[in-house]
Amino acid sequence: MKTRVEKQSTVWQSNSMGCFDKLKLKLNNFVIDQTINYLGHNFNKQKLINLAKIFEKIAGSKGGINHARRMQWLFESEHPHLYWWKKILTELHPNCRNKWIKNFFVNGYYGDNLRKRSEFNEKNGFFPPTVLLASITKNCNFHCKGCWAHEYDVREDLTKEKWREIFTEARDVMGIHIFPIVGGEPFCRKEFLELCEEFNDCTFITFTNGSLITEKTVEKLKKLGNVQPMFSLGGMRENNDKIRGEGCFDMVMKKMDMLKKAGIFFGSSITVTRENCDEVTSDEFMKMLSDKGCLWSWFFHYVPIGENPDVDLVPDAKQRQQILKAVYNARNTLPMMTVDFWGDGPEMMGCIAGGRQYIHVNPKGDVEPCTFVHLATHNVNNCTLTEALAAPFMRAIRDGIPYDDGNMLRPCMIVDRPDILRKYYEEFKPYETHEKAADYLTNPEITAKIDKYSSDVKEILDVDWRNNLWMTIFPLEGEYYVDRDTFCSTEKPNGENAHKCTGLCAECGK
Ligand code: SF4
Repeated sequence: MKTRVEKQSTVWQSNSMGCFDKLKLKLNNFVIDQTINYLGHNFNKQKLINLAKIFEKIAGSKGGINHARRMQWLFESEHPHLYWWKKILTELHPNCRNKWIKNFFVNGYYGDNLRKRSEFNEKNGFFPPTVLLASITKNCNFHCKGCWAHEYDVREDLTKEKWREIFTEARDVMGIHIFPIVGGEPFCRKEFLELCEEFNDCTFITFTNGSLITEKTVEKLKKLGNVQPMFSLGGMRENNDKIRGEGCFDMVMKKMDMLKKAGIFFGSSITVTRENCDEVTSDEFMKMLSDKGCLWSWFFHYVPIGENPDVDLVPDAKQRQQILKAVYNARNTLPMMTVDFWGDGPEMMGCIAGGRQYIHVNPKGDVEPCTFVHLATHNVNNCTLTEALAAPFMRAIRDGIPYDDGNMLRPCMIVDRPDILRKYYEEFKPYETHEKAADYLTNPEITAKIDKYSSDVKEILDVDWRNNLWMTIFPLEGEYYVDRDTFCSTEKPNGENAHKCTGLCAECGK
């Protein structure tokens, strides 16, 4: 167990850079640009291996080097991840393809953000996050069960100028180039795409209900290239529409077809509950997403916040094992990236909140440690993002990870380690960013249920942790073959056999 965690370092930290390094960086950027153009629409395995080798050379962190080596090995062994890249290279519009590679991978993890992160650390004594989650507006034209957006008042939305300031500080001071956008419904706000245009070296992974994406929006997205819509889904037609509204499933399918045809990078965002778990973890559901053209699918567990929080909807321990397996299986058989919000805790070395890997700015400017922790001590209307990150509340969250026993399969301080969040709440006295936001910490009815939930989960997931039952996002050589037998239903990828699977793989499924 211990060796595994050590082996897979995802700590994206670097040493400081000298003049020579800066020159090298410029050269690297030039080489990357040329390589992306050279990769063009001609899929070639060797070219991708070469690209991974370039990433390895320009990586300024241990995590970056490991990641590039893993990619190299996955391409060489013809892991289905190779076919994910094939789709990116051959099916995306050139502008969307180039912006995805450049803005997400190079600028997000390999470019001069490493220098900025290092400078930031020298000055402030801590590394900034790699991702800034922005709730660009509270406004939404839907009213889905379990959503937190309705807790905020739309009149309090930050101005466009303020968002510009926040993104500028994040990018220029902290080196952040990855901005997941949530809401409300981001496309409700016209100025959102104007900001994406201004920050055209950044990537905007946009969580959307899809309803406001018109033919005109598609044209705009193609031109921008740096916006990746992630469609919210709660299951197949019946289950989805029960939560999200009549006709919503068919509408999303139609929008996916429009984006696929236009060559725009898109994906899906699934909220898994105790009720829809079987359906959304089924092979059929995963294959449907991949066939529709989703290049990325996020699996978020329902978190008991928002209107009428219901702890009984949070997936139980067995279901969390089920989600993990399904996500591993899809990741290793389909040309689609899948992420399990809690199950991939070991990959992220535990909870990512508090600015450790990400931070959330809500629609009215409160800086929250996590999208699901609606508590803050700072608001960007009165301070910089750096000051908010330096707050004792945030520092304590970052410094507290990993937790005591190190089990990263139970990473969440809301439902897995409620005592920890309660302790921070007591000690730092953050304010609630909307009414009843701290109910899951103070309301005895809810806290009793959360305590029971966390001890049930502990019983099962501690055994899994001790038995090493987890897998990295991009497995390391050796690890892959061992773990696939445990987690995946398909044959080992080996040369031409890479495509032989149970029918899940888009390559042979067609
Ligand atoms: S607090 Fe929970 S939901 Fe938030 S980032 Fe940490 S693990 Fe995820």
